[in-house]
This record gives sequence, structure tokens and C-alpha cells, in this order.
Amino acid sequence: MEKVKIFDTTLGDGARTPGFGMNVGEKLRLARQLEKMNVDGIEAGFPIASGEEFAAVRTLAREIRGMTIAGLARTAEEDIVRAIEALEKADRPRLHVFSATSDILLERKLKLTRTETMENAAQAVRRARKYIDDIEFTAEDATRSNWSFLAEVFSAVVAAGAVTINVADTFGYATPEEISQLTEFLFIHVRGLKNATLSVHCHNDLGLAVANSLAALRSGARQVECAVNGSGERAGNAALEEIVMTLETRPELYPFESGVVIRELYPASRLLIEITGVPVQPNKAVVGANAFALEPGIN
Ligand code: MN
Repeated sequence: MEKVKIFDTTLGDGARTPGFGMNVGEKLRLARQLEKMNVDGIEAGFPIASGEEFAAVRTLAREIRGMTIAGLARTAEEDIVRAIEALEKADRPRLHVFSATSDILLERKLKLTRTETMENAAQAVRRARKYIDDIEFTAEDATRSNWSFLAEVFSAVVAAGAVTINVADTFGYATPEEISQLTEFLFIHVRGLKNATLSVHCHNDLGLAVANSLAALRSGARQVECAVNGSGERAGNAALEEIVMTLETRPELYPFESGVVIRELYPASRLLIEITGVPVQPNKAVVGANAFALEPGIN
């Protein structure tokens, strides 16, 4: 079976959510559980955002061996320098660069033209590549972007050295059919994509984050970004445990290997609840109190 990478953002998007904030020690505790669960990578934080975010990335980079530890950065040089500094001691460091690509965010947030945005993104990746091999580029609000422009941006960052390109459905706007079509479009139009990994990052505003992530996998994506208990901004990110259990339960539809240790899903859910004090609803799929399968150690 083909490998699908599970990239956890519980400590990234998740911990940036009001009520889910974690200090460095708490992030490390959860990271140890993610290590036991055997996810492929951990979004550890956004080093330029604060001293505590920097410390979290640096601590995880030092302490968690054999796993990808990612630090987030905008395309600005100071962001990238700070992230690379935080990742210095990592076994498998990843720089995660992001830029908006939708016209509405270019206009209102970045105040840049499409051409300037594409040049900034490519230049950021090219610069970072001197220091670090594993670079992921996220197109923020990718699903509301012009598809041809999105493909051009991805082509430019792949040429500049990005090895993972990530389609972010930042506002939870897409549907499964649309994500499938977009993924197929990108495989046709992004130059060099056969040498890179296509990833998706779905939010749950319409309750479709897991369905969208699975649709993308069926259309060729090989990394999903997701979070324990579906934590994350607003309605949250795609729930890690639901994606993993769907792959596990329906291999005839999803012939992929996640590598995640199933019996560690429930302890991870409980640990996040313990750390944040935020419970999941009893009927939450897979890890809720009424869910059928995953009392500790029984499935
Ligand atoms: Mn997000």
C-alpha cells in the first residue's frame, strides 16, 4: 500500500485557537504522545510570532528525534531566519512557508499583485533552500484562489526547491467533489509535481474537513494535515483520528498506509482534553464517550 503522511497540526493551528493554548511543557507532552502514535510530522509553532512559540519549536526540535518537526514562516526573510534558528537542533527539520493566493487576501491582507506574490513565494523558498532541504509551501485560501494562478505559484515554488505543496482550505469552503477536481487539475498543471508531495489542509466550517481530506487522497494527495479531536481555528481542522480510522476501516477505497498506531489515538485524545480542559462531545466520531470502538486498548 502507498504511504500517506499524517502531518499533525494540533500544536500549530490547534494551539493557536482560543482555549487551546499550550505552554512549552504541554506542547512537549503532547508531542511525546504524537511520537508514540507515529505521525510523520509535527507542526511545532510559528517562531517569529512570540518568544514562547520560538521556545516551543526549539524545544521540540531538540527533544523529538526521528520525526519531522516543522516551524512556520511567512515569506519575509526575518520569519525564515527565525524559523531556521528555532529548528537548528532538529533531526528532521522542516520549514513551512506560507502565503495567501486568493485575490481577496492578496488585496486585503498582503496588498500585493499576483505577480509580486508569486515572486515573493519563490524567492522565500529559494533563500531558505540554502539552509534546509525539507521545505513545505502552503497556499493559504488555495481553494478560493484562481486555479491557474495557484498552479503557477506551486510550479514556481517547486522549481525553487519546495518538496511539499499544500492546498489549504483555510476557511472550510470547499466540498469533496471540488477538492477532487482541484487536485486533479494541479496534477496536470503544476510543473514538477511528480517530484513533490501534494498535501491538503482542510477546515471544518461546513463539517467537510475529513471528507475533503479523503477526497484529496483519492485524487493523488499524499499528505494530510489534521489535528487531534479536530482541534483548530473556528470549527477546527480535519480530525486526525477520523482520517486514520477511515483509512484503517476502508482499505478497498483508500489503499494507503498511514503508519499511525491505532491504539494511541484514544490516549492522544484524552491527553489533549486533559491539557486544554476542552472536552469532545459524547457522540464525537472515534474518540467520543459513546463511540463504539476505541475504549483504551480495545478495538
Ligand atoms: Mn489552518
